[in-house]
Amino acid sequence: MNVYDSERMTEALAREGYAETAELESADLVILNTCHIREKAAEKVYSDLGRIRDIKDARGRHGKNTVIAVAGCVAQAEGAEITARQPAVDLVIGPQSYHRLPELIKRIADERKSIVETEFPGDEKFAKLTARRRVSSPSAFLTVQEGCDKFCSFCVVPYTRGGEFSRPVAKIEAEARELVRAGAREIVLLGQNVNAYHGEGAGGRAASLADLIRHLAGIDGLERLRYMTSHPRDMSDDLIAAHAEIPQLMPFLHLPVQSGSDRILAAMNRKHTATEYIDVIGRVRAARPDIALSSDFIVGFPGETDQDAEATIDLIEKIGFAQAYSFKYSPRPGTPAAIRRLQIPDELKTERLLRLQAVLEGQQVAFNCRSIGGVVPVLFERQGRQAGEFVGRTPYLQLVHAAGAGDLVGSTANVAVTEARRMSLSGVIAAA
Ligand code: SAH
Ligand code: SF4
Repeated sequence: MNVYDSERMTEALAREGYAETAELESADLVILNTCHIREKAAEKVYSDLGRIRDIKDARGRHGKNTVIAVAGCVAQAEGAEITARQPAVDLVIGPQSYHRLPELIKRIADERKSIVETEFPGDEKFAKLTARRRVSSPSAFLTVQEGCDKFCSFCVVPYTRGGEFSRPVAKIEAEARELVRAGAREIVLLGQNVNAYHGEGAGGRAASLADLIRHLAGIDGLERLRYMTSHPRDMSDDLIAAHAEIPQLMPFLHLPVQSGSDRILAAMNRKHTATEYIDVIGRVRAARPDIALSSDFIVGFPGETDQDAEATIDLIEKIGFAQAYSFKYSPRPGTPAAIRRLQIPDELKTERLLRLQAVLEGQQVAFNCRSIGGVVPVLFERQGRQAGEFVGRTPYLQLVHAAGAGDLVGSTANVAVTEARRMSLSGVIAAA
């Protein structure tokens, strides 16, 4: 979602005459778009800011002004603490206020003082952002839902992104059409809890994510649809059915489970058990037997025993994932789990993470190896490092390298898979 937000900020500023640069030294404005989900990401902001302040000082000696802005969830969570810790920062702007960027930057120039803007305004930021979209890849992101009401005990999202909010179907459709016009062939529908989507649909009735996907599948030229991230509790029957019925909806599901232990799931306030998760996966597989599964795992949640950690491994072995993300539990300020007793020592977290990742990596390699000898449609997203090489993705989200003549970016071609590694496949273009 930060990638999507960065694109929208860039577009809003382009209207004011700003253009992107790859060199910090030549930037009049630097925006750090930040993530607060784990401590490591949040701390990195301050070391980056130190480096950017040095550049600001050096530019200042040549009479050039530099505006430094911190956006994203660190901005939302830490607010004025950021300008206190790093006075070179001119603007702190939360994720709900991006449409105000141009105006706030002008105010900084006029008033010559720093601004902290972390309100959750009632008016709709999306309505104020430009309708014109640019795409940097045939696969584009589109935020359809923001925020979360679930309050898992480890998570900052409900505090930094606010309550659940869904954009109306008509607005999403207009943006999707604009993305396709600009060259997108695939759209990834984004939300912190995207399958809880309940936006305004036809005749003012609430539309589900399945309704939205059905609707967008009617757009000419839009070949592929994906969505992320989902919560197991919101995997409704109509969404599962959509996986069987809508050819544009890709056979890939990222469904975070976090743990395989019911005791830990309850302490996490996940509102589902391991058995319920396995049951949902069973129903998804019944609808779409070839679906590739992905998940998120947290190891070392406060109070996690060896037995709980083994329960997670059991669940992984029962299900079989095509890929996954796994993290050491990171205590976040203001969340209930951060002040629980029985915090797990870092060495034990590392040990459990390595064990879990070894199992997941084995499954990922096995999943990719099953593609060898088969032919898969690949949507090519960019040129590869070697001349004549292109990089794209299979319906199952696997990265594929293949050589091709002409410019394949934006087109879909069948690829005969010859090699598989953990993170990617290689193959030969079989037929256009
Ligand atoms: N809404 C999604 C995930 C949002 S956050 C869901 O409900 O699953 C993305 C992932 O970051 C989470 O799935 C979780 O695995 C991880 N995460 C969130 N807070 C964390 C924390 N305090 N420590 C470690 N990992 C965390
Ligand atoms: Fe965080 Fe996801 Fe839980 Fe919401 S459902 S609190 S975003 S982990």
